[in-house]
Amino acid sequence: MADAPQIPSENTARSQELFARAAQAVPGGVNSPVRAFSAVGGTPRFIREASGYTLTDVDDNTYVDLVCSWGPMILGHAHPAIVDAVREAATGGVSFGAPTLGEIELAEEIIDRVDPVSRVRLVNSGTEATMSAVRLARGFTGRSKIVKFSGCYHGHVDALLADAGSGVATLGLPTSPGVTGASAHDTLVLPYNDLSAVEAAFAEHGDDIAAVITEAAAGNMGVVAPQPGFNEGLRSITARHGALLIMDEVMTGFRVGPAGFHGLDGVSGDLYTFGKVMSGGLPAAAFGGRADIMGHLAPTGPVYQAGTLSGNPVAVAAGLATLRNATAEVYERLDANAERLAGLVSDALTAASVAHRVQKAGNLVSFAFTDTAEPIIDYAGVKATETWRFAPFFHALLDGGVYAPPSAFEAWFVSAALDDDAFSRIADALPAAAAAAAAAVAPGEVN
Ligand SMILES: *Cc1c(COP(=O)(O)O)cnc(C)c1O
Repeated sequence: MADAPQIPSENTARSQELFARAAQAVPGGVNSPVRAFSAVGGTPRFIREASGYTLTDVDDNTYVDLVCSWGPMILGHAHPAIVDAVREAATGGVSFGAPTLGEIELAEEIIDRVDPVSRVRLVNSGTEATMSAVRLARGFTGRSKIVKFSGCYHGHVDALLADAGSGVATLGLPTSPGVTGASAHDTLVLPYNDLSAVEAAFAEHGDDIAAVITEAAAGNMGVVAPQPGFNEGLRSITARHGALLIMDEVMTGFRVGPAGFHGLDGVSGDLYTFGKVMSGGLPAAAFGGRADIMGHLAPTGPVYQAGTLSGNPVAVAAGLATLRNATAEVYERLDANAERLAGLVSDALTAASVAHRVQKAGNLVSFAFTDTAEPIIDYAGVKATETWRFAPFFHALLDGGVYAPPSAFEAWFVSAALDDDAFSRIADALPAAAAAAAAAVAPGEVN
């Protein structure tokens, strides 16, 4: 949206300069698309440093961070325990390509927290975790097809970028050029929270379906919680047909509670994927699950999977320090902070007469601009909201020193570091943001 309103209350000269320079070296100036602010317009802020709940950009503006590196920073930025762990690990050598004690400890920490997980393989990103889990599910079952849900994101794995679109809901048409029809062909895309669509897909393809992959709670189309019974239904349908259930907890894992979303709904998947929080902001991720399934991985089994930097000692140290400091008290604070944020935003929007719904799953939260009385339970529902109100809302928050995710389709992430000062900064920024959302004009409408 090139014409998103820009309120020049902050100096962004240095960010503008760096963004222009970055575009000459890096496609679009960024290493992950959402960072470019394409959905909201304006100049992405180049961050110089961060501490606690605060981000500081290269123009010396500070922001209350409600993105938290897209999830990992539950303890806040530059937490002393993590900085010390990383420094100590790095001092001892940053990579060996040989096994270390820390890898066992991190795997054990995950196994202790998530009951259905008894073996863990460390990888380098959430994408790699889901890609590997899908390969393992196919290798284990000897079947080809994968069911995924529209609006669920599982990283940029070719077969999992397939989405609905154009009403061809179950054809698995690739949504990105470069994803071949062949790699999307075995992906069935179904509407989220629709068990009858899952039943129908299994009635038709049951013997060919290796796995259903789902976000344990959807957080990549804004937040859409699984309806009561949805995850349980996936569990029983897959079990009945000899297919595996892959619970993608890359976003929810170790954020919504000590045992992730599994700890909230008690549903057990066969395989799990983790990332984000479990590596404390360094590049590491994991997949894990039942020992008999995980035993199919090389070197004990035939399904190949490997990584030069997998289990990297510095990333492992950051992950361990994060999980060991993520105490019951931290989770209470995360929940309370999400509640407080949702209340503040909702009150400000209500005061400005902006119809909205607070979308929550555990301590994940997002805000949908809509006057519908129906809960929003799928991607079509999210897309039908007044997403055009988001850009002015976002920019007014940013100008008020609050860094929200730069897209209506992203979850907001709290940290345990948010305190009364942080919330008063958020409260101060909200009236102007709510007013901007109220004043927004739908595309094609004349004010
Ligand atoms: C972020 C995310 C991924 C991808 O993880 P990367 O580390 O970005 O590759 C996969 N699944 C879910 C649910 C995510 O939120």
